Amino acid sequence: MTTPPPAPMPAALRAQLNRHPAQQIPCPFCRAPARAACATATGRRLPNPHPARTDAWNARHTTEETHT
Ligand SMILES: [Zn+2]
Repeated sequence: MTTPPPAPMPAALRAQLNRHPAQQIPCPFCRAPARAACATATGRRLPNPHPARTDAWNARHTTEETHT
C-alpha cells in the first residue's frame, strides 16, 4: 500500500494563505470589504488585490519617512 498523493490545494484556500497585507483594508477600487479578496464586477475573486488597494495600504503604512 502506498501513501495517497497530496490533494491539490483549492485556489481559494491558497489565496487565503498567500493573503496580501493590503487585504486588511477595504479596497477603494472594487469596494471589497476588509479581509476579503478583491473581486471583479462579475463577482470573480482575484488572486491579487487591486493596485489601488495596495497603494492605499502603502499610504497607510508608510510614515513621513519619505517626507524629506
Ligand atoms: Zn479591489
